Amino acid sequence: MREITGHTVLTGLLGSPAAHSISPMMHNESFRLLDLDYVYLAFDVGEKDLKTAVEGLKALGARGFNLTMPDKNKMVEYCDRLSPAAQMIGAVNTVVNDNGLLTGYTTDGIGYMRAAEDAGVRLGGKVMTLLGGGGAATAVCAQAALDGLRQIRVFNIRDSFYGRLERLTAELTERTSCKVTLEDLADEKALARSIAESDILTNATSVGMAPKTEGCLIKDPQVLRTDLIVSDVIYNPRQTRLLKMAADRGCRTFNGMYMLLYQGAAAFELWTGKKMPVEQIKAKYFSA
Ligand code: NAD
Repeated sequence: MREITGHTVLTGLLGSPAAHSISPMMHNESFRLLDLDYVYLAFDVGEKDLKTAVEGLKALGARGFNLTMPDKNKMVEYCDRLSPAAQMIGAVNTVVNDNGLLTGYTTDGIGYMRAAEDAGVRLGGKVMTLLGGGGAATAVCAQAALDGLRQIRVFNIRDSFYGRLERLTAELTERTSCKVTLEDLADEKALARSIAESDILTNATSVGMAPKTEGCLIKDPQVLRTDLIVSDVIYNPRQTRLLKMAADRGCRTFNGMYMLLYQGAAAFELWTGKKMPVEQIKAKYFSA
């Protein structure tokens, strides 16, 4: 890392827990590689202390910060402006501080779209079946709709996310050229039909994430045709049960690792105006 000086610019992460995050490594190494006088620190801050922490960072002149669970939704209240995608999903994972004016962005969806591109998958004009309606799923859904998918069929269980999802899917259909619909994940026939009519199936729920790696929302492998693309936003484990099942069926797959990388790269660019040296970061922190 570069020597810390009186000019060093502060960036960081707010969330709880925050210490396990790969973001400090990814950003500090990028600052070092580009010889930028910036530093990125992780702060364990939950929703209760978020307002105080944000006011503190603003007073200290921090350039910006990331938000992780549980702070992504609450942060919306403390932003002066929101990007269109952040406004639609009601969540922020990146804040830019321009002399006291805080703008909230969501870069998770951008990260997903760039990860797809990286895997050689062109999503423009395609039909997606999307499992999930939480933070990751809504970010993917909004960005994919804004980036020109033809149709997104969201499936979620009837939990606390469902009502909000009804509003979001209606709004996305109205405001973009993508048709976004919502169905109950418990309807297995509707899900199988949707997958049969889709180019890509994406799991954006936490089902299958460590430590409960046995979880998988697809019960019948037969619904995964060879020409279906299957992706998972989960990065731990790198190959979820769903991705294993899909690979065994001969489908092209990609996981959440590069989504994580590219959401960080998008934040990095918002703060510094420079491109993150992603190939070097990939080689150092994201290789198998
Ligand atoms: P969240 O709590 O906001 O949403 C969880 C989603 O999972 C909801 O849609 C919920 O309905 C669904 N769900 C939970 N239990 C379920 C069950 N038993 N059956 C069916 N659906 C169920 O969480 P999130 O922030 O959206 O995170 C979801 C996953 O995405 C996590 O594994 C997280 O690590 C991952 N993620 C990855 C990245 C990345 O950069 N790759 C970024 C953000 C999140």
